[in-house]
Amino acid sequence: MVSPLLSSVTPVMKHSKFKMASKVAYFYDPDVGSFHYGPGHPMKPQRLSATHNLVLHYDLHKKMQLYRPYRASYHDMCRFHSEDYIDFLQRVTPQNVQNFTKSLSLFNVGDDCPVFDGMYDFCTMYTGASLEGATKLNNDHCDIAINWSGGLHHAKKFEASGFCYVNDIVIAILELLKYHPRVMYVDIDIHHGDGVQEAFYLTDRVMTVSFHKYGNYFFPGTGDMYELGSESGKFYSVNVPLKEGIDDQMYISIFKPVMQAVVNHYQPTCIVLQCGADSLGNDRLGCFSLTTKGHGECVQFMKDLNIPMLVLGGGGYTLRNVARCWTYETGVLVDEDIKNDLPFNEYLAYFAPDFVLHPEISSKQENHNTKQYLDSVRQFVLDNLRHVAYAPSVQMQDVPPDLISLDNVEESELDPDIRNHQEDIDRRVEPNNEFFDGEQDQDKDEGLLDV
Ligand SMILES: [Zn+2]
Repeated sequence: MVSPLLSSVTPVMKHSKFKMASKVAYFYDPDVGSFHYGPGHPMKPQRLSATHNLVLHYDLHKKMQLYRPYRASYHDMCRFHSEDYIDFLQRVTPQNVQNFTKSLSLFNVGDDCPVFDGMYDFCTMYTGASLEGATKLNNDHCDIAINWSGGLHHAKKFEASGFCYVNDIVIAILELLKYHPRVMYVDIDIHHGDGVQEAFYLTDRVMTVSFHKYGNYFFPGTGDMYELGSESGKFYSVNVPLKEGIDDQMYISIFKPVMQAVVNHYQPTCIVLQCGADSLGNDRLGCFSLTTKGHGECVQFMKDLNIPMLVLGGGGYTLRNVARCWTYETGVLVDEDIKNDLPFNEYLAYFAPDFVLHPEISSKQENHNTKQYLDSVRQFVLDNLRHVAYAPSVQMQDVPPDLISLDNVEESELDPDIRNHQEDIDRRVEPNNEFFDGEQDQDKDEGLLDV
C-alpha cells in the first residue's frame, strides 16, 4: 500500500542514455540572509549570506549555474502541510500575534519557532529553492542541485518544530517522486530527521536514513534504531543513533558501510542529502566532534555514487563554521580543491584568529561512543536491510505536471549580481522529447528502470 500522501504521485520513466558531464545548479536568494529569528535565537539566516560570500570569493560560482530561486506558492506548501497551518503562517505577524493565541499553541509557534518579520517570505524562499532544485533534477537540467537555505527537516504537516516551519525537503521529495521510483533521503544533521521520516513512514518509495545524536532527551527525542517504518514502509526508515562526542574516524566508519549497503539494496534513482552543520565540533547547540573535512567526506562519498542529488543545508549554529563547512562542500560538489587560507571577504573578521577553512577542532567533548557500540548499531542496521526488496518498483503512469514551470521564470527575476544565468540555455535544451510517453515512446530503452 502506498501512503495516502503519495496517492496522487506516480513516476514517469525517463531516458538518460546521453549522460552529460556533471552539472551543478546552485540556488541563492540574496534576501534570504537578512531575516532574524529574534534576539538570542541560535538560528541565524545570516549564515547563508556568509556562506554565499565565501562561495563567491573562492570563485566556486564559475563552476556552477547560479539561480535566484522561485518562491514557493501557498499551493506548493499545501502539497504536504494542512491549509489551516499554512493560512496561519501567511497571516500571523509580530504586530498581530496577540490575536492568534489559540493558533500559536495549536501550531507550536512561539518559542523555538518564533513569529518574526517576514517569516512567511523566508519559508517561500527556502522552500521554492528546494522545489526548483527538484524540478531541475527531474528535467535533467543538472546532476546536482544545491540549496543551503533548505533542509528544514523538523517541520510537520500540522505544526512547526525545531526552528522549522515549512518542510521544504518533503515538498521537494514529493516533486522528485513524479519522475523517480525510489528516492533516498540522507540526513547528517546532529538531530534526527523526524519530519521527513514521519512523512514517508508508510511507503517504500522513499528510504530515509538519519545519523544523529540519540538519548538523554536530546531533541527531538525520536530516531531510535528500532524505528524501521510501517506497513509498506517497514524497513524503509533507517536510524543510526549515536552518542555525543563522535569524531570523524568513528562517524565515517559507520556512515560509509551503512550508506553503501542501503544503496546496494535500495538502488535509489535520486538522492536528497541534508547537510546540517550542527554535527560539527564546537557547534553552539550540537555535541559531536566532526571536522569540516569529516563532514565533507560524507558529501564526497554521496557525490561519488553518481546518482542525481539534491543537496540541502539544515542546522548549524556556530556561524563561522557553518559557512566554512558548506563552502568546502560546495567545492567538493564542483570538484574544486580550495585552499585552506580564506580569501579576503566581507565576513573575514568572523573567521579570526586563524582565517582558515579548516580550523583545528579543540573540542573538550568526550567521545561516548565505543567501537563495540558502533559495531552493534551497524550490524543491527545491516541485518534489517536484508528485508528490503531489491530495488522495489512501482507501476509507471503518466506524470502529473511539474509544480513549477521553468518557462515562467522571468528574466527580471534573475539576480543581476548572480553570474552565469543559464535559463536561456536551459530553455534551448529543454528535453521535451526525452520523457517516456506511454505507447508512443519509440526509444528502446527498456530496462533502464525496473517496472
Ligand atoms: Zn539540527
